[in-house]
Amino acid sequence: MSGFRRRHAYLITFLVLLFAGILLLVRPTGGIQQLRGYTMGTTYRIQIVDMPAALSSAEIAADVSALLLALDTGIFSTYAANSELSRFNRAPLNQPFAASAELLAVLTLAQEIAELSDGAFDVTVGGLVNLWGFGPSIQVLGDDVPAQQEIDSQLQSVGYELLKIDQARGEITRLADFYVDLSGIAKGYAVDQLAAYFDAAGVENYFLEIGGELRIRGEKPGGTSWVPAIETPQDSTPQVYAVFFTDGAEIALAGSGDYRNYFEVDGRRYSHEIDPRNGRPVSHSLAAVYVIDDSAARADALATAYMVLGLEDARELALRTVQAAYFIYSTDGVEFEDYVTPEFANYLRSD
Ligand code: ADP
Ligand code: MG
Repeated sequence: MSGFRRRHAYLITFLVLLFAGILLLVRPTGGIQQLRGYTMGTTYRIQIVDMPAALSSAEIAADVSALLLALDTGIFSTYAANSELSRFNRAPLNQPFAASAELLAVLTLAQEIAELSDGAFDVTVGGLVNLWGFGPSIQVLGDDVPAQQEIDSQLQSVGYELLKIDQARGEITRLADFYVDLSGIAKGYAVDQLAAYFDAAGVENYFLEIGGELRIRGEKPGGTSWVPAIETPQDSTPQVYAVFFTDGAEIALAGSGDYRNYFEVDGRRYSHEIDPRNGRPVSHSLAAVYVIDDSAARADALATAYMVLGLEDARELALRTVQAAYFIYSTDGVEFEDYVTPEFANYLRSD
């Protein structure tokens, strides 16, 4: 490339960037303010209507990134060596650990979902998550999957009942040498915290999302409903599978699936949801689950619990607990079928 053309290319790039920058700053799409970024190993997207009078866009952006940073690297990350969770994971056994209100809240909810799902959701499964290569520790899996002996040895310390919570004292204790992984619940919790922030700021219409876990309140400008869509459970280009209508209702929606985060050995797919009963990635006909709840943290954890339980047990649990849930499964790995609980069906009416 000649010097002249190179300068030309720089100029065009500069102009494009400048133009894009201006668009981003002064032209919110259709009265919606957008904020995007990275947190918890994934992306987040915030859309709010009607800006609060007391806060500028810059203040909101600063508050949001401070909030997410505090929750991610400050508390829940297993990738950050000095997060509160990482320190707890290194804490001596049988010695109470003073936990923050946030960690206490998430662990308390995690234990509730563990009991509800008969241990299918179990945050003490982290050692196995790491062993199968889905955690922060670098694993060279090569062409092989972990040996049964390694799985058995990790399984010995897994068990949510071995994590003691003392609500009154705000203390948590490890009764076994497990490794807590909150990736199946922390994103949802962070979405709930964002919702609390915007509620307090007086924002009544928003769409908040971290890594696919959502919280929706109110409507879009012009009184139209936020319309979340469910993707076809394939790892190729995302395609809309179903849309649903919130009609101004305040809801949280979370999904779990084995089609994004997995690896393959000899044509077999290993998902990032680990069954704490056998220490292995789940493998069954259920391809994806979506859950609606008031709380995004609860929806997030339940979606993971259902994925581990598999279609039959998950459906039974969702019906028994009157939970809004949407299951996508495949018996032949090609065609998808779905099962929608009556509570979820309310959101699928098309008009
Ligand atoms: P995604 O939304 O990306 O599908 P999930 O919310 O389903 O993710 O959470 C999956 C993550 O939860 C895994 O990557 C792992 O870190 C953790 N995990 C895996 N198995 C379990 C389990 N049985 N109970 C709790 N957490 C789990
Ligand atoms: Mg989840």
